[in-house]
Amino acid sequence: MSIVANRLSRIKPSPTIAVTNKAKELKAAGRDIIGLGAGEPDFDTPDFIKDAACKAIAAGETKYTAVDGTPALKDAIIAKFKRDNDLEYTRDQITVGTGGKQVLYNALMASVNPGDEVLIPAPYWVSYPDMVLLAEGTPVMIECSPENNFKLTAEALEAAITPKTKWLIFNSPSNPTGGAYTRAELKELTDVLVKNPHVYIMTDDMYEHLVYDGFEFSTPAQVEPSLYDRTLTCNGVSKSYAMTGWRIGYAGGPKELIKAMSKIQSQSTSNPSSISQAAALAALEGDQSFLAERNEVFKERRNMVVELLNAAEGLECLMPEGAFYVYPSCAGLIGKKTPDGKVIESDEDFVTYLLESEGVACVQGAAFGLSPYFRISYATSTENLTEACARIQRACAVLS
Ligand code: GLU
Repeated sequence: MSIVANRLSRIKPSPTIAVTNKAKELKAAGRDIIGLGAGEPDFDTPDFIKDAACKAIAAGETKYTAVDGTPALKDAIIAKFKRDNDLEYTRDQITVGTGGKQVLYNALMASVNPGDEVLIPAPYWVSYPDMVLLAEGTPVMIECSPENNFKLTAEALEAAITPKTKWLIFNSPSNPTGGAYTRAELKELTDVLVKNPHVYIMTDDMYEHLVYDGFEFSTPAQVEPSLYDRTLTCNGVSKSYAMTGWRIGYAGGPKELIKAMSKIQSQSTSNPSSISQAAALAALEGDQSFLAERNEVFKERRNMVVELLNAAEGLECLMPEGAFYVYPSCAGLIGKKTPDGKVIESDEDFVTYLLESEGVACVQGAAFGLSPYFRISYATSTENLTEACARIQRACAVLS
């Protein structure tokens, strides 16, 4: 009998983390690698946030806290939801976890019964389907086409809903495409959800602040207040505040669900790090002006990367509204041969070829449920990106 539980056979290790680790290993072994795999800002955590963490340590905030977040952090989250999203919550509607990932995981474990269907627009962030599978639910992917900038349409959503649908997982700006829904686009989706009162909405707003060219972010419960009671609005400090390693995510939603999520957390990790909670509090309450400054840099990089990728033979890349990802198509390269005679049969083959031939690490579209594409994270220096794009262009040019 295997020591590993049967349920593990349903899932795979996170592919984004696998690519990131592989790039790090190759670099440590002396290879010249440019990692565009990790969805992680290259900027450092701002000093005022680090200072708050140091102060918390000095003040002895080093003990257990309430399982699902300190009252002070919950109040800062309540203020954030009010300020940015016109959403009103009370403390018993807020939960704080060890990263956005734990919050989503808790929510699915706390709500999905065997056989419940969870709608996931594809391409999707790699961990949604596997989390649903661990919770014994059935992930139902809805393919979203590049013609609609990889965004879910009202028709496709309507067609996918069945009596068994429990959740729609919604993510804007999107990981991996960077596409973001305008208020009008979102309203079309919420109109469908209004007509289907048995469906709950889990919105992953992790990239909320990473939008460009004056794009205005909105979230489902804000666009359609009648959905408030069946929406879990998830967010975190990782991406916007360059705090990936601190591991703080949070959500606001129905009391009953928040309580159930806290029950799971009380039996697994207990509270997220007390120091990180103090840092997240400072992030949410502090001066937010650095966000706009950093966004200017991300926007420049996005523009440059999209232009250079479109100049590569066989690649096509849309201009996304947000996040720090682009999701180019490599359809024009499928069937071509590498200089050493291997045929590129899939996006997976293409990213393997890029890594082996030019030392550029990206994540294959298959991991996000839509091929033949690949994801590039442009959250790295302009020099790195310029060099990486030159290498990608070179790799594409020598295919025959
Ligand atoms: N969310 C980031 C990514 O997509 C970090 C890695 C992960 O948790 O997937 O790259």
